[in-house]
Amino acid sequence: MTIEKFNIEEHPHRRFNPLNGEWILVSPHRSKRPWQGQVEKVVEEKRPEYDEKCYLCPGNERIGGHVNPKYNEPYSFVNDFSALLNDTPEGAVSEDDLFVSDSVRGICKVICFSPRHDLTVPEMEVDEIKKVVDLWQKEYRELGQNEDINFVQIFENKGSIMGCSNPHPHGQIWASSMVPNEPQKESVCQKEYYQKHGRTLLSNYLEKELEKQERILIENDHFVALIPYWAVWPFETMIVSRRSLSSLDQFSEEEKMGLADIYKKLTIMYDNLFEVSFAYSAGIHQAPTDGEEHPEWHFHMHFYPPLLRSATVKKFMVGYEMLASPQRDITAEGAAKRLRSLSAIHYKKSK
Ligand SMILES: [Zn+2]
Ligand SMILES: [Zn+2]
Repeated sequence: MTIEKFNIEEHPHRRFNPLNGEWILVSPHRSKRPWQGQVEKVVEEKRPEYDEKCYLCPGNERIGGHVNPKYNEPYSFVNDFSALLNDTPEGAVSEDDLFVSDSVRGICKVICFSPRHDLTVPEMEVDEIKKVVDLWQKEYRELGQNEDINFVQIFENKGSIMGCSNPHPHGQIWASSMVPNEPQKESVCQKEYYQKHGRTLLSNYLEKELEKQERILIENDHFVALIPYWAVWPFETMIVSRRSLSSLDQFSEEEKMGLADIYKKLTIMYDNLFEVSFAYSAGIHQAPTDGEEHPEWHFHMHFYPPLLRSATVKKFMVGYEMLASPQRDITAEGAAKRLRSLSAIHYKKSK
């Protein structure tokens, strides 16, 4: 019997995510197996600049009778179908340890990124995206100042396969009295790390990633885009600030411009991967707005895209992943290599 040496590029292993304290299973030996599953249709429809039936376009009426102003910069409004309400009575129901509930207050908003119905972030100009970041900062501050709001979740669902019902470029903000599950896990891990090391977890992580250069995708003066070592989704990425900023509240003008720049470059990379408008759920993780200082929190943005090996093959989180642990075949390093090899010019412009 030959004793083979463990090779992370070939052998099944699990990787630890220090941000949330969970493990993921990596099976690199499987990435060559044939695919016989579902094939998604690619519909690259050409959209008009203005759509009279779109409830997000400027000047249009929304369900419920509200009319959008003729906005020409990013525009936000309270969601007509909010999942959270700001006047929920306070209360908790805890009969015993087994039936526990707690009332939640909050505000849900929609942000139209552009008045143009036909654009997406990678096709917008950097200074237009900067205005989206300006509005995120304003919303984070204003919502966060509300006594009832302890966490502001900013996110974007792009593409119908992510369940996004309207192609008009937009995102959402759900601000709540509770700190939700994912940021709560990261809060605990980051705090523990900060107390032990006196620096943020992501400062130290980023420093090591920049030395290794195995998973780095894009760098500018203020941000780095990379595939995290513990990525679950095939082309999952993260944008991390170089400075340990705990939230958008601390961003300078240059840093807002830097975020806009890297957001555009990363999404161009994504679109170029399969030459399709790339679907994802993305969102910002930053300090809770509970009135406390959070030096342990390090600003970052996650991108979770479902596409696996072409514009038509997506990854499903089913079976073992639902019941046991998330799993991936292609390694984070392999995915990074693939993304780095792509042109920096959007495929629509290079044709
Ligand atoms: Zn529209
Ligand atoms: Zn996070």
